[in-house]
Amino acid sequence: MRITAVTGQLISTPFGYGAPAGPGGNLHLRDMDTLLVRVETDAGLTGWGEGFGFTLAATTGQALATLLAPACLGEDPRDIPALLRKLHRRFHNFGRNGAMSFALAGLDIALWDIAAQAAGLPLHALLAKEMLGGALPQGAVRRRVPAYASLLRYGDPAAVARNTAEAIARGYRAIKLHEVDLACIAAARAVAPPEVPLMLDINCAWDTVAAASDFCRAASLGNIRWVEEPLWPPEDFAGIAAVRDAAHRAGGPAIAAGECLGDPLTIGAMLAAGAVDVVQPSVTKLGISGMLAVHELAARHGVAMVPHSPYFGPGLLATLHLLAAAPLAGPLAEEPLEVYFADLDRPPYPALVPRDGFVAVPQAPGLGLALDPAALDQPGPA
Ligand SMILES: [Mg+2]
Repeated sequence: MRITAVTGQLISTPFGYGAPAGPGGNLHLRDMDTLLVRVETDAGLTGWGEGFGFTLAATTGQALATLLAPACLGEDPRDIPALLRKLHRRFHNFGRNGAMSFALAGLDIALWDIAAQAAGLPLHALLAKEMLGGALPQGAVRRRVPAYASLLRYGDPAAVARNTAEAIARGYRAIKLHEVDLACIAAARAVAPPEVPLMLDINCAWDTVAAASDFCRAASLGNIRWVEEPLWPPEDFAGIAAVRDAAHRAGGPAIAAGECLGDPLTIGAMLAAGAVDVVQPSVTKLGISGMLAVHELAARHGVAMVPHSPYFGPGLLATLHLLAAAPLAGPLAEEPLEVYFADLDRPPYPALVPRDGFVAVPQAPGLGLALDPAALDQPGPA
């Protein structure tokens, strides 16, 4: 089998998130952009992937179109490790954590889609075989995966309370906030039932270990599962480890991070530094191959793995399969899927909307869902 074409397609859709967008709102996103990566083969199989993302999607698409796509033509898509190793080496000087590596991640996802289709298996079954070394015992895969609502940033306690209540009403049983303001966090805690854990993603808000540790202490308002990315910069593993130590000593929240790291080696260094309780790799940055490598690292270091997936295309679907494939005792085993709390006018996969807090795992070969024609027809961002 040979690769005959690699193409990127940028799609864009308006969305609602329970607060005003654009000027006057608290959000920099006006539309939700997705970079689709399509890989065609001479065997008639077509795979889909997604490269990170948001307002960078067009730039990732440029790296794909001008550098990566021509290098893939005529290559054998079946030996994914060999092809990805070759391409990562070829382009390593152009960014090991940025548009170039995100384009490679999109390619990697599409190749796994093709591999699963060629095997006649849904992607999660192929991944479970990978993780379990070939065996696939009963109960090794999940047919549905719980979702957690990942609320966008509102910066307003009333809006946070309103959207937390809406997420609960929709059936979510875990909620992540992107708020730093304690009044906003308290507003969510007051609305969510005590048994519903909150996760606090503060996107590297603090510059010092002391300030981040103070935040962790002050934000411990009951059933906080983790504080995510407490410290700037995200590569300050010793600093994050110090925040974690302080939090543990205070009986405070677990620490999570990993979405800003571009390769498994760097994530391994973070784990070796004892920086986190929960590692959060992103499939649109690492590809499925990178996620499998992080899964091994997480198992070795005894930390939980909850992937970063606030996107809506093949990256979200691939993450769902990965979570479904989790071996029963592994770091992913009971973990939820991150679902961005936004209602897209034209979602790429309408079937991926959670019902009663769960997302059903597709059972058809490969990624197992077709992209919605209405989403594919739309033009990319202007
Ligand atoms: Mg995050």
